[in-house]
Amino acid sequence: MSTAISIKGISKRFGAHVALDSIDLQVRPGELLALLGPSGSGKTTLLRIIAGLDTPDAGQILFGDEDAPIHTMRERRVGFVFQHYALFRHMTVFENVAFGLRVRKRAQRLSQAEIAQRVQRLLELVQLEWLADRYPAQLSGGQRQRIALCRALAIDPRMLLLDEPFGVLDAKVRKELRRWLRQLHRNLNVTSVFVTHDQEEALELADRVVVLSSGRIEQIGTPAEVYAQPASAFVHEFLGETNRLECHIEHGFVLLGALPIGRAERGIGSAVVYVRPQDIVLSRDASGPGLVRHARRTGPLARVVVELAGSNVDVTIPIDSVAPLGAREGDRVSVQVRAGVIFPASPVESMKLLPLDLQGRMLSLVPSAIGA
Ligand code: ATP
Repeated sequence: MSTAISIKGISKRFGAHVALDSIDLQVRPGELLALLGPSGSGKTTLLRIIAGLDTPDAGQILFGDEDAPIHTMRERRVGFVFQHYALFRHMTVFENVAFGLRVRKRAQRLSQAEIAQRVQRLLELVQLEWLADRYPAQLSGGQRQRIALCRALAIDPRMLLLDEPFGVLDAKVRKELRRWLRQLHRNLNVTSVFVTHDQEEALELADRVVVLSSGRIEQIGTPAEVYAQPASAFVHEFLGETNRLECHIEHGFVLLGALPIGRAERGIGSAVVYVRPQDIVLSRDASGPGLVRHARRTGPLARVVVELAGSNVDVTIPIDSVAPLGAREGDRVSVQVRAGVIFPASPVESMKLLPLDLQGRMLSLVPSAIGA
């Protein structure tokens, strides 16, 4: 059965440094929750406190309705996967997975045959039964992490905690393992919390994402919520590429310098406006306000830097929308901002940038201008 985890007012200091500042969080039974944040934001500290590997200075952790046993990870029945494969080098894959079962108290220990059966079933679950007799040194990084997960599952954990489980793997293997973990979690339905500093990983894998900064929660929400409705400028900036534009609001218009780039429902005075590169449309226009500074092709996208009212703005265009008419570096373009988030100096609350009703054609670039 899946267990809920309630985290209430958890604080932790290391000397004068506040690593966690009164964290409140509910992990729902069976969900896959990501702790996302930059280096040093407190993700690992929180995970270790949930696991019982560290003790908080203040606060309480409940598993279901019970106080989490304060002693060991084993008592908490927590499966923990570390970033660096913590497999025992001198043991085969089989023995690594069996370890948690062999060290149980005598009364709870399974027979040899039961252990063998269980390990076999777990290895089948992670599709690595053919590696049972190998040693960790004879496995790839991805295989080692799958075995580490398998070992964590052997004790039939109440919850699974994963600390940057794919952190040291290359990009392709990371992506494969993400898909694999998502599927495995769907099959097992065990309450799981994983730590990552990779926003793409968090958004792709998790049911909900907790964004941490300097030991505090900035926002909790589904991937779609945190991406589309960021609670703070920090969250918006952290969740993907963006342009930060110093603007001001006047008569309902959002002005970059003297150039209107959108509308605002309320507010007046200075505001920071964030616009993602894919939310900008360029049109060829000899009298347009934008100047193409740089254009290059990166896989399925063209990346264009446009100078606009004194700011350099990054724009991405799907490569198949780039027709062969062409705007080269040094050409002028008009610019339409389709979406953005406004953080006015006051009132404090953020709001959506509303697009101006401009007739804009897509910018066309000649292949040579984008390095094709
Ligand atoms: P990363 O992604 O780099 O692992 P993180 O978000 O997981 O970062 P934590 O490892 O939780 O961050 O650390 C939070 C802060 O607490 C950091 O400033 C770190 O230096 C500090 N810290 C963590 N563990 C200790 C410790 N045992 N002693 C002293 N300071 C610590």
